[in-house]
Amino acid sequence: MNYHEKAKMGTKSVWGGEKDYLVHGASQVPIVPSVAYTYDDMDEWYEVATGRKKGHIYGRNTNPTVQAFEDKVKVLEGAKAATSFSTGMAAISNTLDTFLRPGDRIVTIKDTYGGTNKIFTEFLPPKAIEVQFCETGNHEEIEREVEKGCKILYLETPTNPTVKITDIERMSRAGKAAGALVVVDNTFATPVNQNPLKLGADLVIHSATKFLGGHADALGGIVLGDDEEMVEKVFHYREINGATMDPFAAYLLLRGMKTLDLRVKRQAENAMKLAQYLQKTDLVDEVFYPGLPTHPNHDIAKKQMSGFGGMLSFSVKGGVDTVRDLLPQLQYSHRAANLGAVETTVGPARTTSHIECTPEERAAMGIPEGLIRVSCGIEDAEDIINDFDQAFSYVKNVVKI
Ligand code: PLP
Repeated sequence: MNYHEKAKMGTKSVWGGEKDYLVHGASQVPIVPSVAYTYDDMDEWYEVATGRKKGHIYGRNTNPTVQAFEDKVKVLEGAKAATSFSTGMAAISNTLDTFLRPGDRIVTIKDTYGGTNKIFTEFLPPKAIEVQFCETGNHEEIEREVEKGCKILYLETPTNPTVKITDIERMSRAGKAAGALVVVDNTFATPVNQNPLKLGADLVIHSATKFLGGHADALGGIVLGDDEEMVEKVFHYREINGATMDPFAAYLLLRGMKTLDLRVKRQAENAMKLAQYLQKTDLVDEVFYPGLPTHPNHDIAKKQMSGFGGMLSFSVKGGVDTVRDLLPQLQYSHRAANLGAVETTVGPARTTSHIECTPEERAAMGIPEGLIRVSCGIEDAEDIINDFDQAFSYVKNVVKI
């Protein structure tokens, strides 16, 4: 057994995957910016180039800093294989492109991340790939559609931005029975809170740009699985098509991940406290957080997640006008199209996760125009709640809605 398998998540975050890359006695993984690797021995070069011997040839294919990043996430997800990408969207699109062919069918849920949804609505249909959308959380409908036959069952749980929950274990059983590949975007949960491979999924995807990196200063994506041949196919598609992670980004993401467990636990604590505060706030219509007993799939979240994550959303009375008045008052939040960072970050779905969609498409996904997504940071919860409180008071007393 690999010694990391026995370690807890905090230890894995710090030590996982780095050992093989610590050269010259360094205690930190170095950035290797070299594009190509030189060989004096022509036979050795040939052996490495043809995959018979370990080593590096060219940066679009492999890079030591990037591999250290992949190895750390492998340890965190408990996966046998991984391949990384320049962004989360590259991870998603390259994975779909690797396996889908004209005439294939994919079953998914209505409210995946906006960029993913765009792939389903704009880019797959012209390639003669049928996309079947199901109501998120309607497990019976997903099972019925999967049973009819599909190449991929694509899930995201919790979803962006209304944090809806899908039962990964149950859906993986349905996918397996129909011979489908079950792919889960685990960006919102992080490996600290949820491990889809252990729940039966075939592939797990992360936008590393978010919680994995945690500092909003590097883009990246990753796909992981236990079937090495399956992941190798995705790697091969990526090495040819070129959506490769940059070694500088890999370094920043590696450094960020050392505190992943600490950050994510604090973010979940803050999210729970903020969600409870928002539920008692009269300008708030509805609060969406899987940790709240009022969440429709709280029981499934409790079963498959070890923590409920740092993401929540809420809708406000007065819709877009209230959003416009409220958000600029917040002192301790970035108003930005990002999530998972150490700073609390807020934004309306219509300008962040679902900017690509029309108001009608958002409405069909159950996303009110007055919905605010909150990615909780690692600040003190009391300060964040006081900050929201003064912003709500401003809207009530100064704008007088
Ligand atoms: N998956 C989810 C759930 C996301 O929220 C995002 C981005 O917000 C992505 C994938 C895409 O990631 P990236 O921005 O790194 O391409």
